[in-house]
Amino acid sequence: MAKLPNETLRVKCPGCGAELAWRRDNPNRPFCSERCKAEDFVAWANEEQVIGGSPDYDDVLSNDLLQS
Ligand SMILES: [Zn+2]
Repeated sequence: MAKLPNETLRVKCPGCGAELAWRRDNPNRPFCSERCKAEDFVAWANEEQVIGGSPDYDDVLSNDLLQS
């Protein structure tokens, strides 16, 4: 059966926890907004400088993709 075009994966914004639709045309995914994206990137970049990476972040994205 073909998927309906309006069948959309729902994800939670890592920044504020708000639920949003995972859309390929959303430049801010998986964040709800450009603001959350920017804030998380700053935190992520700061953390990377300390521990040299953030594997948890990659795991979350991979799981989301597998479930779609
Ligand atoms: Zn958000």
